[in-house]
Amino acid sequence: MVDDTSRLLGLDGLAVVGVTDGPQGLVVQVNTADERARMCPECGTRARRSKGRRTTRPRDLQVGGRRPQLVWTKRRWLCEQAECRRKSFTESVPEVPPRKRLTARLRSSAGAAVADRGRTVVQAGRDHDVSWPVASAAFTFHAQQVLPAQPDPVEVLGVDEVRRGRPRWVFDEAAGSWVTVRQRWHVGFCDLSGGQGLLGQVEGRNAAVMADWLAAREQSWRDQVKFVAIDMCTIFKSAIGRMLPNATLVVDHFHLVQLANQALTEVRRRVTVQVRGRRGRKGNREWELRNRLTRCAARMPGEHVDALVDELSTLPAAIAAPILAAWNAKEDLLDLLALARINPDRRQVARRLHRFYTRCAEAGVAELERLAATVETWWPQILAFLHTGITNAGSEGTNRVIKTVARDAYGFRNAVNQRLRTRCATTRKTRGHLDPH
Ligand SMILES: [Zn+2]
Repeated sequence: MVDDTSRLLGLDGLAVVGVTDGPQGLVVQVNTADERARMCPECGTRARRSKGRRTTRPRDLQVGGRRPQLVWTKRRWLCEQAECRRKSFTESVPEVPPRKRLTARLRSSAGAAVADRGRTVVQAGRDHDVSWPVASAAFTFHAQQVLPAQPDPVEVLGVDEVRRGRPRWVFDEAAGSWVTVRQRWHVGFCDLSGGQGLLGQVEGRNAAVMADWLAAREQSWRDQVKFVAIDMCTIFKSAIGRMLPNATLVVDHFHLVQLANQALTEVRRRVTVQVRGRRGRKGNREWELRNRLTRCAARMPGEHVDALVDELSTLPAAIAAPILAAWNAKEDLLDLLALARINPDRRQVARRLHRFYTRCAEAGVAELERLAATVETWWPQILAFLHTGITNAGSEGTNRVIKTVARDAYGFRNAVNQRLRTRCATTRKTRGHLDPH
């Protein structure tokens, strides 16, 4: 029979015997109220002879906005079993495990604050009145409970790189230039089809470390990966091709559009320097239109597009012709990529691709030839994007979470901790912690 005060405190196995006002607030006296606490932890025999009492003050959660001080008077017992190695033991209940100075619920609340509620370790420590190392250990324990040790099967895998911390440079006197001495790149693996968020990360940006991570998964796991979304990076291509030979590689439109806009900007800068002998500035129409050039024409009002073309045409031909060619090539590429997710037929794709290649070939502009060559190299992966519409946006989103978590924590010294924190942060939604209800 549990009395009302004990029920209010809600610590199973402990009964409240008195509540008083102490100098530091409420003092709650508790006794053990669980028969099992009397069983020897070694042999399970019920002890009969007591060795006296001990008093402990385990810290607990707040109750009604106040943090009562628990004073638990418990017994030490003698184990009378002759063959038992344990001669004596002190009572313990699951809510306050042996040798712990925190209640289990305080520890798990501090851990959950970091893993599930987006708190930093410092803040969780303050909220729960525990030190940083205690809050950090509580988080690690909680994270290991809620995250699977091995990732579940994934249908669409995302691979992306992220830089940890800042690069460091030193000035090389001999060469007379700055050289990078430290650049810590990590490659992350994300679940793009399910809700597992970041699956893992490897340090370094080469095919060998990526292949090692994939090799550490089971063959059945690797066989279940159907698509892999990557950036246009040959390292990723070779590692995935070797380890997941049956998966289809997909390159999304984002990086392609970025490349096309870069090519257009390079052309504009080059012809300005060649014709005007200096960089572009106010008064040079092609410089003033630089942001409008890289916008998607399909999303601009028709009269703006007409005005853009008209204004470029009034410029000297040496400037206007290459810029217009690059702009048209970029728009052709956008038209091609716009076929994604609408189940295009082969002729439609071939027609738009042909138009893009022809434009690049006829322009006689080196930057466009390079762009066309890149598209040709990656064409199988681009075509896979047109048919599946799979993008690597989920991986980029994970990178944003990695950086946000790192900023909140004012950086991490320990990459393993960082990974655990990011994995918790990217799985919060799936684990049901972002649902307002
Ligand atoms: Zn025993």
